[in-house]
Amino acid sequence: MSAETQTCQFEAETARLLDLVIHSLYTEKEIFLRELISNSSDALDRLRFESLTDAALVPAGQEFEIRLETGTSPRTLSVIDTGIGMSREDAIKNLGTIARSGTREAREKLQAAKSAEDAASLIGMFGVGFYSSFMVADRVVVVTRKAGEATATRWESRGDGSYTISDSERDTSGTTVTLYLRDADHDAGIEDFTATWQLTSIVKRHSDFINYPIVMVEAAKEEGGQPERRVLNTMKPIWTRSRSEVTEQEYNEFYKHITHDWQDALVNYAYKAEGLHEYQALVFVPSKASPDLYYSSPDTGIRLYARRVLVIEKCQDLLPTYLRFVRGVVDASDLPLNISRQRLQHDLHITQIRKWLTRKVLDSLENLRTNEGTKYAQMWKEFGRAIKEGAGSDFDHKDRITSLLMFESTHDATALTSLKDYVARMPEGQADIYYLTGGSRSAVENSPHLEAIREKGYEVLFMLDPVDEYMLQFMPEFDGKQLKSAAKGALDLDKKDAEGKKEDPAKETEEAAEREHYASLLTGVQERLSEDIKEVRLSHRLVKSPACLVVDDYEMSAYMEKLLSQAKGDVPKRKRVLELNPKHPVVVGLRKRFEANASDPVVDDSATVIFGMALLAEGSEIADPVKFNEAMVRMTQRSLGE
Ligand code: ADP
Repeated sequence: MSAETQTCQFEAETARLLDLVIHSLYTEKEIFLRELISNSSDALDRLRFESLTDAALVPAGQEFEIRLETGTSPRTLSVIDTGIGMSREDAIKNLGTIARSGTREAREKLQAAKSAEDAASLIGMFGVGFYSSFMVADRVVVVTRKAGEATATRWESRGDGSYTISDSERDTSGTTVTLYLRDADHDAGIEDFTATWQLTSIVKRHSDFINYPIVMVEAAKEEGGQPERRVLNTMKPIWTRSRSEVTEQEYNEFYKHITHDWQDALVNYAYKAEGLHEYQALVFVPSKASPDLYYSSPDTGIRLYARRVLVIEKCQDLLPTYLRFVRGVVDASDLPLNISRQRLQHDLHITQIRKWLTRKVLDSLENLRTNEGTKYAQMWKEFGRAIKEGAGSDFDHKDRITSLLMFESTHDATALTSLKDYVARMPEGQADIYYLTGGSRSAVENSPHLEAIREKGYEVLFMLDPVDEYMLQFMPEFDGKQLKSAAKGALDLDKKDAEGKKEDPAKETEEAAEREHYASLLTGVQERLSEDIKEVRLSHRLVKSPACLVVDDYEMSAYMEKLLSQAKGDVPKRKRVLELNPKHPVVVGLRKRFEANASDPVVDDSATVIFGMALLAEGSEIADPVKFNEAMVRMTQRSLGE
């Protein structure tokens, strides 16, 4: 370690973002104080936790507190804590880099952000915490000493791209952040942050719930007198207060404290379990997904307290992974303080809390779905993909999860629907739930597979997210009704009796006659397309189109095959079934030609063209464009009589 002053550059992205933070991120400049107090509170939490196993870290008589001290010339404000402090390396790592918690991808996005607004919404999610000091100060000095170490470190910066670091001294462990304040400028939101009343009201507004005393120290009124100490916050943990005494703003301040999000949460819920074990929880659903939520190791978790003492800052075992977007705290009355992080997953307390909390959260989400549609839609937009993972992994809560799922549907092009609402709209006679998977609404909306279903007035769900295909494997039914793909199996919507015969005998006879009628054509077409098609049969799902392609019930859909081949490279194409519409003039005409002369070249070309049209109609690519094109040229030529 070197004793001399070392000048270091901020990481490139940090320097650039600092500038944005200072000039555009927050309109409310006073929140810098909330951020500094929040950091101090975390540092005290950490020290308290560490001292459980190493009592020597806290010398006798040392209070756990946060002090605010002001100076007049120059005008300064210091936020001082007796927390865990930082070593020189910690200070370089923590105060020289922004967005430490983000994944590489998220950080790259940040760097690429074009406008201040883009960047603001991204950095908000990482938390800019400490850097917000530069909104109100033109120079910031941090003197910090790590608990258990003898030397202190001094960090100083003007927020202009570089900082200096040197050895220093400090009586106790902890951190002092001193802001050399900019001149007060009411229009720019910079108040006189040395005024006691100002600081008192900011603390009340943003940091009242902090678990440690926030002490305002004022110089003695008369010479030789003692400085005056006043505790500014009530310190009551917010989750122990009844809902009626806490304002939404207070809940949101607390949310920001624990998550470092800069936006309010979308909703919050408080739960209490009484009885053999007592737990309390206060959880929040953020209004936006953090940029790392869908990457490999997102920075999430619930704060776990044992009788008001923080034991784990980000406990990821209290909720299943698919609910990782939920933030908040759990306070358990009978949790051992020294609970081991390694054994967490096997700890009986944790298992019980997890079960309880998972059910509570899922029930709250269901409540939100039924009672607050707009908020639910927002929640779904941000976190729906995470919840879908649950459908394939949490079988204990399968029904609860399934009822949370939302899909696009033929019912309303502007709003998503739940399975429950779908079922409620099912007309008399509809037995199954129909869906179609695909890459976009426009790709599936006009698919020929839907013709008969739509004609019946049945609704079809569009599953447009790649994870839907995965999820559907675990969801054969909902509410006793089967989920059926419109592009799989031999779909037949006619009513059947107990033996599977059609209720309408005339229909049964008509179809038997049709099958006989078409038998030789079907074989003829099959022979011509045998390289691409495994079977040709008559369709019950077509109305307007001459043909479509389907797979068997248990087979992978064409869309899934496409996704897989995109992910893994060439997946060998499996042959599908070509269904022909016996009522369509193209198919009727083809049968006549074929019966008149089975080796008529028009039959060959028609088979190629019909197969190609079926691919185009469902939004797929033509298997052999050259062959298709040549057949089209000949067909057009013939129809022009040339
Ligand atoms: P965040 O709090 O979102 O991580 P900050 O920029 O506010 O971001 O702080 C960066 C890091 O610096 C913190 O995570 C913490 O490790 C360290 N730090 C900041 N303030 C303190 C403090 N008062 N005591 C100890 N460590 C601190």
